[in-house]
Amino acid sequence: MPDNNRVLTDIFEISDKLYREMCSNKQNDHASLFNYVTELGRTMTDSDRASFWKWDRRKGELWTTSATCVDRIVIPDDSGLVGKALKEKRVVVVNDPYSDPDFNQEVDRKTGYVTKSVLVMPVADINGDFIGAFQIINKNGDGGFDEKEDVRRLSLAALICGIALESETFLEDSHHDKLTKLKNRMGFYSDFGRRYAKVLDEGRPVSMFISDIDKFKSVNDTYGHNAGDAVLSTVAQIISGACAESDGVYRWGGEEFIMIMTDATLEQCAAKAEKIRETIMQTPCNADGTIINVTMSFGCAQFDREKSIEDNISVADGHLYTAKESGRNRVICK
Ligand code: GH3
Ligand code: MG
Ligand code: MG
Repeated sequence: MPDNNRVLTDIFEISDKLYREMCSNKQNDHASLFNYVTELGRTMTDSDRASFWKWDRRKGELWTTSATCVDRIVIPDDSGLVGKALKEKRVVVVNDPYSDPDFNQEVDRKTGYVTKSVLVMPVADINGDFIGAFQIINKNGDGGFDEKEDVRRLSLAALICGIALESETFLEDSHHDKLTKLKNRMGFYSDFGRRYAKVLDEGRPVSMFISDIDKFKSVNDTYGHNAGDAVLSTVAQIISGACAESDGVYRWGGEEFIMIMTDATLEQCAAKAEKIRETIMQTPCNADGTIINVTMSFGCAQFDREKSIEDNISVADGHLYTAKESGRNRVICK
């Protein structure tokens, strides 16, 4: 039994750090937040290690960043004790892991660590759907984990992890477009505040184009809405395939996309847009066997620090309008 005063002091210290982290977390980096909550769970249960696993149902994966301070560990969601706890929707306690067929010995083999006891607690969202799992390893002292007592000790940290993960997932979803998987307008404004504004403040050039599929309404009218969706996905893929790591592509609205380029002049931006325009023109979209060809018009602008985001976009939008008016399937930057 740990010294309760010491445990309380540790808990207050971690929650203090967690609070400060939350108030100063402007970088959109939630890994350290989850690390603190994981550390809270480890302390509350007086165990040697803890990790919080996020469940990506779509990909069928479980992943964590906090297990052994490595970047990220990803495992299939039907493997290991974490997978078992989620599949069976219950707490799993194993105090003799090497004789348990569900225990994955891989990490121990690689690192030389000896796992003696494991407790995995599935974590649900506010609707009661499981979204992740809290794992604690090696109860300090003898005897291993006690399901009732250790779940009671871990529950607050598991609850905080669940709420944090749920809100992270909501935020992520609200910044993305389901059809094209690109970031949407909200994602654009968020990235602008966090990334591009800083680049502009440093006096570095930031350029953008806004692009719009030509006569897209007739694609829908001729081939149907599903075929239109397939075209949107193909176009989104082509544009994001041309996007550098430091840049960003966003679905601005229906069939309109924006690309932001950092450290790029207007000329460099126009050259990139021209390449993309050619690729789109030359790439037929296969919509369930129907081959559809489309073209796209582009308006470019280099950001002016003195103007608002909206006014800067209006400049590019004006050039897009000119591209449409002067015959479509072209890039206009002046
Ligand atoms: P222009 O060359 O002048 O841009 O002509 P346009 O037909 O592309 O322009 P318009 O704005 O009239 O049409 C855009 C169409 O995009 C109308 C709308 O139904 C369609 N659209 C918007 N969002 C989606 C979507 O998510 N899926 C599909 N299939 N169509 C969409
Ligand atoms: Mg259009
Ligand atoms: Mg449009």
